[in-house]
Amino acid sequence: MSYLDEVFGLAGKVAIVTGGGRGIGQTVAIGLAKAGAEVVVIARSNADETISKITSEGGKCYFVRADVTKESEVDAALAEIMQKSGRIDVVFNNAGICKHQSTFEASVADWREVIDTNLTGEYIMARAAAKIMVENGIHGSIINMASMSGTIANIPQWQCSYNASKAGVIHMTRSLALEWAEYGIRVNSLSPGYIATPMSVDTPQELKDAWMPLIPMHRMGTPEELVPAVLYLASSASGYTTGSDIIVDGAYTCF
Ligand code: NDP
Repeated sequence: MSYLDEVFGLAGKVAIVTGGGRGIGQTVAIGLAKAGAEVVVIARSNADETISKITSEGGKCYFVRADVTKESEVDAALAEIMQKSGRIDVVFNNAGICKHQSTFEASVADWREVIDTNLTGEYIMARAAAKIMVENGIHGSIINMASMSGTIANIPQWQCSYNASKAGVIHMTRSLALEWAEYGIRVNSLSPGYIATPMSVDTPQELKDAWMPLIPMHRMGTPEELVPAVLYLASSASGYTTGSDIIVDGAYTCF
């Protein structure tokens, strides 16, 4: 076995990717499978494209439907995964939504939907998966998708609920890392800057033009550029890293 396989390899591990049917989640799911993990995608619709991309390359992947805001659906999904795969080692808590709205335009229902999905959804999944890890003596890794928006508030678009949800994810991550260190469960977060995904194709060009001068690297990142950070956090390479937030943002948050 090569040094890289020994340190970053995930052979024999089962990794859950929420929201892995498209976008960042899909690219990370493929990366986890290439590192040797059996990948389980959780989303509300489907993961047909992700499954075919992984299995056509000889990797292992299947889909379990669940809405991460619903505790009963998450519990049922994890029970199904335990029945099929027998373990849960890694959770990439990636499912999330964003609403570009001024606070006066947004309703309280809009706020609740974003907080429910991005913060409470990650809490529900992390809590349920960690319980299973403890019951089974698994020293797992939970990776919560945050954002640079958890550190800075974006301009020129208004997205108060999103920014608040991601700041909550970063501090929830620190809190859970402390609480679960004694069980050998590591909890970290990932904070990307602007990443070009199918979703951002719909982003108006004038908004992208406004972002560029604010990004010291003058470009958006790619989902592929997030994969190595997730592999680090998922694998034994990060054995002493917990409660950390890894920022991958082309230096956006440096000024
Ligand atoms: P996409 O919209 O492309 O993908 C989001 C995924 O989340 C979809 O697969 C969707 O699947 C799933 N999802 C949404 N709500 C739920 C839910 N309630 N239950 C289960 N699954 C759900 O987004 P991105 O790939 O761009 O973003 C992924 C994550 O990365 C998000 O948390 C986002 O905040 C974060 N992020 C993105 C950045 C970017 O620039 N793109 C920058 C920084 C962070 P389905 O609809 O089938 O449920």
